[in-house]
Amino acid sequence: MQTQSQPVVAPDVHQAEPIPDAAREAIDALMQSADLFRYNSEDAPVSLLEGEFAEMMGTRYALAVSSCSAALFLSLKALDLPRDAKVLLPGFTFAAVPSSVIHADCLPVLCEVGENLRINLADFEAKLDQDIAAVIISHMRGHTSDMDAIMALCDARDIPVIEDAAHSLGTTWGGRKIGTIGKIGCFSFQSYKMINAGEGGVLVSDDPELVARAVIMSGAYEHNWKKHKRRGENSSELEEAFGRWQNKLPLYNLRMNNLSAAVIRPQIPELERRVIDGLKNHDYVADRLNGSPWFEVPPCLAPEVRAPDSIQFNLVGLTDNQVKAFAALSADRGVKVQVFGMSTDNARAFWNWQFIKDLPELPQTRAMLMRACDVRLPVRLTRAELDIIADILLGAMDEVMPEPLAYGT
Ligand SMILES: *Cc1c(COP(=O)(O)O)cnc(C)c1O
Repeated sequence: MQTQSQPVVAPDVHQAEPIPDAAREAIDALMQSADLFRYNSEDAPVSLLEGEFAEMMGTRYALAVSSCSAALFLSLKALDLPRDAKVLLPGFTFAAVPSSVIHADCLPVLCEVGENLRINLADFEAKLDQDIAAVIISHMRGHTSDMDAIMALCDARDIPVIEDAAHSLGTTWGGRKIGTIGKIGCFSFQSYKMINAGEGGVLVSDDPELVARAVIMSGAYEHNWKKHKRRGENSSELEEAFGRWQNKLPLYNLRMNNLSAAVIRPQIPELERRVIDGLKNHDYVADRLNGSPWFEVPPCLAPEVRAPDSIQFNLVGLTDNQVKAFAALSADRGVKVQVFGMSTDNARAFWNWQFIKDLPELPQTRAMLMRACDVRLPVRLTRAELDIIADILLGAMDEVMPEPLAYGT
């Protein structure tokens, strides 16, 4: 345990793992050739990345773009939804997700999220029958909602599901890769996600019609779509779909640049190890925190195997002031705890999405956000560093809540 006489330095949780050396060589080659634009050549790094990503995910197609937000926007445009179509999404996600709905000229409809950080299925089902044209399932911080129930509800109504798996690369549900269960899956390569290129995104799908539309709108002008690869045997379906949509769609130019692909590609073989390390680290800290009555790390659902690079826990039985005191004391000692609903202007608190017309109140989600905490736990941390983090959190709680038995009295 930490004591006053032995100050311990908390690890820097914002520093990601170093980028593999192979990226430097690939970037050097690009500097020499100056081929930074993806459509300069057939075998550009972006095209190769798309092939490798589709291979890894087991999908027919992958389209690399400038961000996960761009992937979400293009997914909605690819679905060809009419203006003002309603898109159902969870009330706990990152502001970029409802923003992508607005960007696509659709209307976000928010459903409740429970204190286990997962979609409240009763509220989801009730809202699904309110003229919903599409659904975005945000696997927020990698927490997976019941995808069997969600797919059954949506399939029964023929409503397409887009998975926002920005922060869920490597997670599985019943053995299936998250992001491949809905019609389209979207992932992020922003620095705080499992694969880090600073910025970047990718969408995956098995549907040639949707992919052809998304590819063209991402900025495949003229016949650049010919440089897009499909996985496996040569299929004419995609070419036919491109032919149908030639010159019929606007170009939003959300392409990925070859430099990003050069940084991403050597990280793909690292993913499996990162997922194993991240889960081990997460579960170690979760076990330590769950030993205290004031912390509760929501358990995952049975079919879910997670790929965490952060930990979320609820504070149980604390008043608002005690929550603030705990967060302040932890921060003083070097561990930044973000209480989603308490930090000013937090982008994950739905009441700050004031760009949504008629923003609803979501009492259950609000209550969850006022007690749910977020601590980054990059996969590179050592056991000793994890202990420092857990010690600081548990020690701060001991000072804020010195008498556990007072709970409930
Ligand atoms: C990071 C994130 C996004 C946005 O990804 P960008 O690539 O930064 O656009 C969307 N949804 C979730 C759940 C995220 O974690």
